[in-house]
Amino acid sequence: MSRAQLLRGAPLAAALGSDIATAVDVLVGAAGLRPLLATVLVGANPPAAAYRRSIVRSLATVGIEHRAVDLGEETTAESLVTTIRRLNDDAAVSGILVLMPLPPSLDSHLVLEELSPLKDVDGITPTNAGRLHLGLPALRPSTPQGGIELLDHYGYQVAGQHVVVVGRSNVVGRPLATMLTLRNATVTLCHRQTRDLAALIRQADVVAVAAGHPRLITADLVRFGAIVLDFGVNVVDGKLVGDVDLESVGRVARAVTPVPGGTGPVTAMILARNVVAAGYASLRGSPHAVDLPASP
Ligand code: ADP
Repeated sequence: MSRAQLLRGAPLAAALGSDIATAVDVLVGAAGLRPLLATVLVGANPPAAAYRRSIVRSLATVGIEHRAVDLGEETTAESLVTTIRRLNDDAAVSGILVLMPLPPSLDSHLVLEELSPLKDVDGITPTNAGRLHLGLPALRPSTPQGGIELLDHYGYQVAGQHVVVVGRSNVVGRPLATMLTLRNATVTLCHRQTRDLAALIRQADVVAVAAGHPRLITADLVRFGAIVLDFGVNVVDGKLVGDVDLESVGRVARAVTPVPGGTGPVTAMILARNVVAAGYASLRGSPHAVDLPASP
């Protein structure tokens, strides 16, 4: 039995959804522009295709349109670049998401270099990542941003807390560490080559995991009363599970995000908010203008 508070994402996702739907109406009314996300899928990639379907469902609930761009497994770097540039230049496209991983023959750096920062709803371009690092307004990666807002929603402060982040990907671990640092947390960023991961995690007030490794975090690693954020998305025996062993960690943690139903629903809504913010940013021609307008 889990004794920890379950930090469910649905209440926050619903609140975000209603603000986003209003902002979409304002954008449609003021500029005649309905925000649209283009997702680019290269080759057959069942997990990416499943992620796309879940994004499309969330976008639809707030009135954002979707355009699927499907490229073959044999797509060349030149043709991927041409596709991205065409979407960059298409005024009907507010945001662009290139689904990962790409086939092994394509270097994901291409995407970072080519994507317009104005349409970079995952916050992965040098402009947006750099701006985040400097604490400037930017389109921020939706998964870590959602995690931070989930903690805010449930009233947990990170200032002065020791947060151990496990995983250093461009879209989750690394930007999360930056965001937490900007919030005055003390951050330890761990990865595959970290020595004695267990000893570090045991010192954490907050553990945040995005490693893609089912049951990486078990109760013996978690300090009594710690808060645990699980960003893991793994499929085991046809079931969605995170990186945290919820059953055992729930007995020692003060609060933990369940998978499914924790960080995931919030991520989807932050992505939707980024699409709308990107729509405004494109209208103004500036990646600095990433705030949503106030409700009318
Ligand atoms: P995501 O997109 O979910 O963040 P990636 O596969 O891009 O996932 O990155 C996984 C990250 O998790 C890497 O930084 C890797 O070093 C880290 N990681 C994976 N397995 C472990 C592990 N067993 N212990 C510590 N870190 C791990």
